[in-house]
This record gives sequence, C-alpha cells and structure tokens, in this order.
Amino acid sequence: MMKPEIVKKVREAGIVGAGGAGFPTHVKLDADVERVLGNGASCEPLLMSDPFLMEREAAAILRGLALVMESTSAEKGTICLKGKHERAMNAVRKSVEKGPFKNIDVFELGDFYPAGDEQILVFDVMGRVVPEGGIPLQVGAVVSNVESLLNIARAVDDGRPVTERYLTVTGEVNNPLVMKVPVGTSIGEVIEAAGGPTVDDFKVVIGGPMMGAVTADLFTPVTKTTSGVIVLPSDHNVIAGKINDPERVMRITKMVCCQCSRCTDLCPRHLLGHSLEPHKIMRQLGSQTLFSEDILEDALICCECGICEKYACPMMISPREVNAQVKRELLQEGTKRAPKRNEYQPSPFRGVRKIPTRRLVERLQIGQYEDHPPFMEKDVEVQEVRIPLKQHLGAPAKPVVKVGDHVDKGSLIGEIPENALGARVHASIEGRVISVDDAIVIRQ
Ligand code: SF4
Ligand code: SF4
Repeated sequence: MMKPEIVKKVREAGIVGAGGAGFPTHVKLDADVERVLGNGASCEPLLMSDPFLMEREAAAILRGLALVMESTSAEKGTICLKGKHERAMNAVRKSVEKGPFKNIDVFELGDFYPAGDEQILVFDVMGRVVPEGGIPLQVGAVVSNVESLLNIARAVDDGRPVTERYLTVTGEVNNPLVMKVPVGTSIGEVIEAAGGPTVDDFKVVIGGPMMGAVTADLFTPVTKTTSGVIVLPSDHNVIAGKINDPERVMRITKMVCCQCSRCTDLCPRHLLGHSLEPHKIMRQLGSQTLFSEDILEDALICCECGICEKYACPMMISPREVNAQVKRELLQEGTKRAPKRNEYQPSPFRGVRKIPTRRLVERLQIGQYEDHPPFMEKDVEVQEVRIPLKQHLGAPAKPVVKVGDHVDKGSLIGEIPENALGARVHASIEGRVISVDDAIVIRQ
C-alpha cells in the first residue's frame, strides 16, 4: 500500500496519538523517517491498558507498525515495552517471530519513569537526542503509541474509525479493571462499570497519577486520549498536589525554594543535555536580580513530567506548576524559543538518576492500587455519549450533524476545518443527536 492511501485512511478514521496530547496521526505518517518506535512503555504507574492490548492484539499492533513503516519509508520498526510486563512481552515476541513482518524487533525498557516520554524513548532506543523543543522526526524517528497502531491497522484494513477507547479504571473502586468504552462515555458510568467507588468523598484523576488532571465532575467524557480513570480519596497525596491554587504555588515557590538544585539534577530533559534547569527558573522568579534575559523561556521545553514536584524537591514545592504557568503566559504572548544548543551532551549521571517506578509508587502512596487488574470481557453499553469536537492538538472539528439527526455508530459527526491541523470525530453509538455545541451529545 502506498503512502497517500495509508495517510488518507488514517485521516478519515480520525486517529490521534492515544498516549499523549492527541497529535493527529495522519500528519505524522506523511513524513519520511528511518525508524518507527511503537510506544508500549505504559509510562505512568497504575495504567495497564497498553500491556493488555499488546497481550491480546499483538498481531494487529505489529500490522499497524508495518503500515506506519510503509507510509514513512522507515527501514526499521521497534516495539518498546517494559520487561516487567512479561505476558505482553511474550505475546509481542511470539508475534514478531511468527511474522510475516520484516525488519521489526522488540526493545526491552527498564522500569523507570518517564520511560515512555517520546524524547527519553528515542534516546534510550536510538541513542539520539531530540533537539530541545523539537520532535523525534528531526532525528529520523516517528513514535506511535500501541493503541494508535491498533487503530491504524483497523482503519486501513477494515475502514474502522476511532469510536472506542481502552482505559484502566482503578484506585478506590470495587473492581479495578481495564475496559473498552465508547468515546464520550461519562467517567461516572465508567466508575459504575468498575463496581462503583469504595469511599464517599473522592476525586478522580483522568490519566496517570503524575501527569493526569483532577476532576470532581462525573459527567466528564472519555476521549480518544483518556488512558486512565483513577478514583482517590479527596485528601490523597496525589490529589492534593494537583488542586493547589496556582497563585499560592507561585507565592510559596518564591519564598521557600532553597536553591538545592535537586529538581535540575533529576530533571529527565536536563539529563538529556537540554538547557532546562528548573532551579534557575525558580531563582529568577524569587529574586529581584535578573540572572539571565531568557531563563524563563526554558519553561517552554519542560514536558511537565512532575519528577521535580513529586520526587525531587525537599521543600515540597512545584517547579512543574511554576513552569506550566510561565509557559502559558509565554505562549499567550506568542513567544517563540530558539534552541540554545546545536549539540547535546547527555549527563554521565543519567543512568543512576533515572527514577525507579517502585520508588515513585511509594512516594505517591499508591502501592495498594498496583495489582494487575483483569480485562472486562463484556462491552460497556451506554445510552448517551457526549463527544467533544476537540480531543486532539489543533483546531476543533466542525460539526456536520444537527440536532434531531439520526447517526449510526461510526458516522462522521465532525470534520477537520479547511487548511487546519485537526482530526475527524465519529459517532460512538447509534442514536439521535440531541445537542451540538463544543461537543455532540447522542442518545439512543
Ligand atoms: S516537570 Fe520538572 S522534572 Fe519534568 S521536565 Fe519539567 S522541570 Fe524537568
Ligand atoms: S528542588 Fe525545590 S528547593 Fe531545590 S532548587 Fe528545586 S525547587 Fe528549589
């Protein structure tokens, strides 16, 4: 199959990066690279849908990888996953040996955080540093999450659009599970499908405990990028760090930072050789002295992994939150940061400064939720879905249905605006459209 045909089918199916910010996949597939990395690192603690998919759908994931290789003219494809996910590793290795896929291998990752960060993954597998503020394409790589690869195989071979999402539901629920649900299902229904909450006063982390966002709104819909729903007591350590008032965080940071520089010592981007030194950003903000004109701009190359906040800082303050605030302001002002270096020298201490997942789990106090949850065999059926028109990077999709229309599962309901970066959106259940605003609500 030729590149234009693969790109067209992936675009039509509305596929976006399932493991991250939702970059539209058809744009990635239009490039030419040397190597494609299938990301099955399952980077965040507690999230198990990627290992599950590799266990159950290894052949289809390899097919997706082969299609991306075809489209990008890559000579090599590599599925990357942690050795601790033994069943997934065995299934993938068996499928690779069985064939018929050529030039595909498996890379065993160590159990550290954030092993699945695109830039960390590219360095660990290929030994190349993605330039600061850059993308893997610049060093000859495309990285695609394993659920995205599965979606690519289904789109190209069967014409199936993305209407479902695999996700882990865990924490304070009666039956922690990995399940598949229609896109647009409310997280309240997802929690009920996992047996309901075990505590009265809880909040929910959407995504992983390190990078996920907190909500108390049980009508929040599952999107194409929702990898986890974690129910935790409202006063849990993980929740507390995520609901701090941003102004308070900034004020405390200015007063309390002792300039020990542990945040910089353990920062995975700094360890790759990037200019980012979070302690200097803290110093600049807390001082009247201007140490460097452009030090604050380094916040733009922070990936917000949270190691500085949750693991490094002895004063319990959050360079991550501070960087996020500075970044928002700079982006609003339209600041563009040019890379400060042309060559990158990863730290010789990088190997010993990786954060073992086990220690992170202890620090987060989530060890009691770590059991490998089973996969829910029966489909979750819902009467109503609320499907956001923006589940991806770029412009929101333009609605192509109106209130009262009947739609089938898989019908196109949102189109990419002309000449914009974006992704199509499809109905995830059959029913009638009952409202159209920034999301489309469909009821059976
Ligand atoms: S969140 Fe902290 S540790 Fe992570 S990249 Fe940003 S500054 Fe570095
Ligand atoms: S680790 Fe905390 S106290 Fe130390 S320099 Fe970084 S922000 Fe300041």
